[in-house]
Amino acid sequence: MLTASCHCGAVKVEVPRGPETLTNCNCSMCRRYGVLWAYYKDAEVKLAAAPDTIDRYAWGKKSQDFIRCKTCGCVMQWKKKTIGPETRTGVNARNFDPEALGAVKILLLDGADTWEYIDWPPHASEA
Ligand SMILES: [Zn+2]
Repeated sequence: MLTASCHCGAVKVEVPRGPETLTNCNCSMCRRYGVLWAYYKDAEVKLAAAPDTIDRYAWGKKSQDFIRCKTCGCVMQWKKKTIGPETRTGVNARNFDPEALGAVKILLLDGADTWEYIDWPPHASEA
């Protein structure tokens, strides 16, 4: 098990195992937050926080919340509002202890446009 903690410690997110990859997304939210997402099934992830310790932000279709600590502001998780057995969630791997997380490959997701994973920097032949 691995636990992500916000800076002040009021909000924790528990996951069953370390992630195999992390996703750096360039969409309008993620590039501002500067987060690295580790993906899990929602049912595998436990948000351990008193209700009055978190704030939620949703935009656009408002199908998911970005959950952050009300005190220290750390972005902890995105979570769908409608959850089925296969629904995924994203946990901000920046909040894991770096030594516990270890070396994990970071994938770049073009969430701003194509929703495909991309190579970065671009190959010289394409530049
Ligand atoms: Zn906090």
